[in-house]
Amino acid sequence: MKIGTKCVQEGWIPGDGEPRVLPIYQSTTFKYETSESMGDLFDLKKPGYFYTRLANPTSGYVEKKLTELEGGVGCMLTSSGQAANLAAVLNIAKAGDHIVSSSSIYGGTFNLIAVSIKKMGIETTFIDPTSDYETICKAIRPNTRLIFGETLANPALTVLDIETFAKAAHDNNIPLIVDNTFPTPINCRPFEFGADIVTHAATKYMDGHGTIVMGAVIDSGNFDWHKGNFPELTEPDESYHGLVYTEAFGKNAYINKCVTGVMRDLGLSPSPFNSFLLNMGLETLHLRMKKHNENGLKIAQYLENHPKIDWVSYPGLKSSPFYDLAQKYMPNGQSGVISVGIKGGKENALKTINNFKLIAIVTHVATLSSCCLHPATSTHRQLSDEQLKACGVPPELIRISIGIEEPEDIIADLEQALALI
Ligand SMILES: *Cc1c(COP(=O)(O)O)cnc(C)c1O
Repeated sequence: MKIGTKCVQEGWIPGDGEPRVLPIYQSTTFKYETSESMGDLFDLKKPGYFYTRLANPTSGYVEKKLTELEGGVGCMLTSSGQAANLAAVLNIAKAGDHIVSSSSIYGGTFNLIAVSIKKMGIETTFIDPTSDYETICKAIRPNTRLIFGETLANPALTVLDIETFAKAAHDNNIPLIVDNTFPTPINCRPFEFGADIVTHAATKYMDGHGTIVMGAVIDSGNFDWHKGNFPELTEPDESYHGLVYTEAFGKNAYINKCVTGVMRDLGLSPSPFNSFLLNMGLETLHLRMKKHNENGLKIAQYLENHPKIDWVSYPGLKSSPFYDLAQKYMPNGQSGVISVGIKGGKENALKTINNFKLIAIVTHVATLSSCCLHPATSTHRQLSDEQLKACGVPPELIRISIGIEEPEDIIADLEQALALI
């Protein structure tokens, strides 16, 4: 099946007489005939549901769909994108360990890694997303457990050279984890270029309707945990009677430990109802992304030629330093998110967005209705000037998220707002 068909058909596949639409299993618990039968579940001897913190059928079918869309072996849905990145890291890193991360990442993830994960005793070296192979390798230490980056960074829109980052990671026997939120698997499939784990804020394009906060971790199953130093996966886990994940689950070791270890203990689980809504979003993801891609490029080209615009950052523009990487990693399109520098700095940037009538000011992005944000005074407000610069978020930057409305109406709104400054 092609990916658009998978969006519609994968996951819940009803049997004879079953509901056509994915049912909502709004139940915390699941009944068993005998205590022994349930005991086997707790020993991870057989698959099944016992408590919705760990697994739920509605969420499970959506996990199956996402696994198919990314081309992996398993998926764990989480209550938010933040929870997904937290789980992906904590699954293989502990106090005393070290991470290498691209500095061009979502502000929330930057804080998560630089502040909260640091407090847990895991240190991070941030490197430029355009770092070459040698520079990436130089940042790796003996206790480095993973490399992290964003395929298309929010909001800087830098494109990660996945192959170079994956090679540097693999030559040092560590996995590459990439947050693929902005491209979604419709525009980019990171496993095909060597990424080992993919994370998502499903809150964005995947849901697409602005109704849910959710995340996902997807495992390619390709990383050989025995090659590196990952005793939590290759040696007995005392919290599961000495179970060894790589022996018990083979290619699914990482994602199973993520569920039975991180999810069990931290409880980052999504609600079944939100999983149902996510499934509805995924059913039209391929159609929506096509329109976001078309609108995004059209409006980026319009803005690039506008006299009141200082610069436009959109990787689909030939003028973008990321144009070649974007054509390689996301040839179908580069989404609807555009970063724009307004002439006249912060003051005019704020004036412009206050003038918008159709494009709404919201703390959101990558959703079907057009919206905008001034990151330096909102999402990235906590960051120092130096950190803002490292994240690629100067004060004149506004992030515009182009929806799936007709492009003429969005351009008319931009035109009238810019005419007023
Ligand atoms: C929004 C976002 C997150 C965080 O997701 P939440 O669902 O808001 O917790 C993580 N990564 C990227 C790239 C995002 O855009």
